Amino acid sequence: MLSSLNTAPRCTFAIISHPDAGKTTMTEKLLWFGQVIRETGKVKAKDGNYAKSDWMEIEKERGISISSSVMSFPYNERAMHLLDTPGHKDFSEDTYRTLTAVESVLMMIDSAKGVEAQTIKLMEVCRMRDTPIVTFMNKYDREAMDPFELIENVEKILNIQCVPMTWPIGSGVDFKGVYDLRTKQIMSFKNAKDPFNPIIIDAQDLDAPEVLAFVGAPLLATLKDELELVGTLIGDFSKEEFLHGIQSPVFFGSALNNFGVKETLDMISSSSPGPKPREVKLAPFESDSKVTTVDPETTTEFTGFIFKIQANMDKKHRDRIAFLRVCSGKFNRNQNIYHVRSDKKMKIATPLMFQAQDREITEEAFPGDIIGLHDNGKFQIGDTFTEGSKYMFTGIPNFAPEIFNKVILKDPMKGKQLEKGLQQLSEEGTVQLFTRHSTGEKILGAVGALQFEVVKYRLEDEYNVNAAYEGYNFVGIRWLKFENDKDEGNFVSFNSSNIAYDHKKRLCFSVRSEWDLKLVMEKNPKVQFFKNSDYR
Ligand code: GDP
Repeated sequence: MLSSLNTAPRCTFAIISHPDAGKTTMTEKLLWFGQVIRETGKVKAKDGNYAKSDWMEIEKERGISISSSVMSFPYNERAMHLLDTPGHKDFSEDTYRTLTAVESVLMMIDSAKGVEAQTIKLMEVCRMRDTPIVTFMNKYDREAMDPFELIENVEKILNIQCVPMTWPIGSGVDFKGVYDLRTKQIMSFKNAKDPFNPIIIDAQDLDAPEVLAFVGAPLLATLKDELELVGTLIGDFSKEEFLHGIQSPVFFGSALNNFGVKETLDMISSSSPGPKPREVKLAPFESDSKVTTVDPETTTEFTGFIFKIQANMDKKHRDRIAFLRVCSGKFNRNQNIYHVRSDKKMKIATPLMFQAQDREITEEAFPGDIIGLHDNGKFQIGDTFTEGSKYMFTGIPNFAPEIFNKVILKDPMKGKQLEKGLQQLSEEGTVQLFTRHSTGEKILGAVGALQFEVVKYRLEDEYNVNAAYEGYNFVGIRWLKFENDKDEGNFVSFNSSNIAYDHKKRLCFSVRSEWDLKLVMEKNPKVQFFKNSDYR
């Protein structure tokens, strides 16, 4: 279906939300509008509230749903790629990495709750590349915050300028539909099960009898007041500012009942950028190595990077897929491509392309496309592929973990397997592995507690290693940058018990308390401390 769109610019995007704000519902609706699924309500609700013991189920679901990691569909002459992100907050590191592979983001806000914790964290990641963000204020069919209050909430907390494209008419049981500020039409639905036949009422003249008849006098009076305020308080939409992540077009609605969904999809497909230029470091890939840009418009060489590796927890479907984002040139099946880290050329005989819920072998891929590579442990997150250039894409960092555990080996004879397992699992992005400078101890760091359970299970299942954990008193990690080797040497010897190396042997400072960190930063003003590993 997408082959006819081979030259069309891809629209590669993801949905971010706090659990329960409506990401799964919106995903389904977008696929429905994209006409790749015929009915909704099929995707198992992932409400983010799994009991702890259900982690295995979550992993299985994620594994089995490898095919839904990328959901592609044609829309308005564009090939849309919606990259899935895990619903459970404990796996948000996966989401962070997926955000490095997209050009724009749809942010779902629960309109009764406003901005929630997880959205703040995800927004920080979007900020790293100034990713353009479309906002959807969801669940207006329920009691919701006043729209102005909601806009203020998003603007203040997320520091982004909101420009409404649609406006809600009422909320909860009084919710009538949305007013499109651009077309001055009211959009509503007779039947929530039929999103393709909305009721459209021309509301150029808000005093027209059909508008009054549909909206009712009290709500119409409120709508008029609100629209006047919107006109005076809120500036115009600027595509330029949207593309720089400064402004966000805002849609009010209800994903469950289709209100505002099509308008949002239209906005994403018409305004979201196609594949953008990306920075690459040149060999020898040190933090101060020269940086250049790969531009899909001008670079003809195929380049891409791996942003996610998904292992399958289900023994019946055991496979590991590395997801590669194409950044420039054209990828051809069986072409010799260059895996920069291992300095080896390789042929990919069965590259996978994903479409809605299916995956199939693809002959070619273009910038913005995602292909799946079967992986038997060769690949790592962040690996770069080219046709021969020694590049390394930047901007695919590790993010500072928040929970730490020391690994205790139950059978001392299995030390080698443990090391191998931990190294592989950390390269795959399942968990982060740190080695303490002073003691050589192996410490695991994660963003969410369930990541540790996955590691324990996989060590046993795949590496035959029985390991246990002992809590560790770190609360964070910062990657370090020094002005010169002398400063580095002094800092390391003075803070030796706080120094650790990540799985790529990068120097880190382990944080025992925020207060401690503040003190060390004050004492060492020339040392830079980073919350992610991709600093320069
Ligand atoms: P996720 O955790 O962000 O993926 O959220 P889901 O899409 O699973 O939605 C969480 C819950 O909110 C589910 O019970 C949905 O049916 C419900 N929901 C989603 N969108 C709407 C909406 O527009 N209106 C109402 N009333 N409920 C919604």
